[in-house]
Amino acid sequence: KPNWMARLKAGLSKTSANLSVLFVGAKIDDELYDELEAALLMADAGIDATQFLLDALKRKVKEDKLLDAAAVKAALKTLMIELLAPLQKPFELGRHQPLVMMISGVNGAGKTTTIGKLAKHMQSHGQSVLLAAGDTFRAAAREQLMVWGQRNNVTVISQESGDPAAVSYDAVQSAKAKGIDIVMIDTAGRLPTQLHLMEELKKVKRVLGKGLEGAPHETLLVIDGNTGQNALAQVKAFDDALQLSGLIITKLDGTAKGGVIAAIARVRPVPVYFIGIGERIEDLQPFNATEFVEALLG
Ligand code: GDP
Repeated sequence: KPNWMARLKAGLSKTSANLSVLFVGAKIDDELYDELEAALLMADAGIDATQFLLDALKRKVKEDKLLDAAAVKAALKTLMIELLAPLQKPFELGRHQPLVMMISGVNGAGKTTTIGKLAKHMQSHGQSVLLAAGDTFRAAAREQLMVWGQRNNVTVISQESGDPAAVSYDAVQSAKAKGIDIVMIDTAGRLPTQLHLMEELKKVKRVLGKGLEGAPHETLLVIDGNTGQNALAQVKAFDDALQLSGLIITKLDGTAKGGVIAAIARVRPVPVYFIGIGERIEDLQPFNATEFVEALLG
């Protein structure tokens, strides 16, 4: 198996240790289901997804007359893959010229790191990239993006204390003029409870649409896989405000809360384009439901 699977597995093992171990030599009884329920809740799958999976599993065990723990585990695996499969959607390049991506998230979610990883990923697929430092609040955030851009030969459009919508608009115009393939717009980290900042994001989105018909083509949210149910709350809030087209879940190399993806699938099934599995530039992978469940359940 590729190295990144091992990393994902190592991260999720904190979850899967609880899940996998349950099935070893277990009897199929209420105790097993109770333990399974506790393990899923602990992995932050949330009440809804946990109940959904348990009910479906019990039904399957009955229908198929499953008798041993290995068969039950395999059934759970299948159910989880079915639950997560709708989230799997390949990120297609070259649909628009330029393809405009707006990227939001709370502070510390891994937004800037992810933008760097994505830019590298796109470049390795022959795409030219331009970045817009839409975080006009924090000089440090702008600098972080600038440094990254210089190191990788990527133009970064930045303005000191400018209006994020204006910076974003300029970036798209610049990309059009230069024939750039992809524009990635970084935005300032914010909490969904900061309503004026959420309004500002909506404005960035509106203004992008004025500069280029159909833009932004992707409205993405970066969430920290470590934050569990809080990540789900963020998905709901940002989706309500911005109508998200996709998610990127970071830090799945070190979390015990990987189950939150099941909650997302049940409650707000926004596609997960990529997952972050480390701090290095190459630690980004397309989300694959089967591989994810493999890593989770072994
Ligand atoms: P931002 O505030 O959302 O822009 O977050 P940053 O990009 O600055 O990232 C915050 C921290 O998370 C940094 O220390 C990153 O190295 C780290 N980070 C980002 N993505 C990942 C990931 O997939 N795995 C791990 N282990 N760390 C990550």
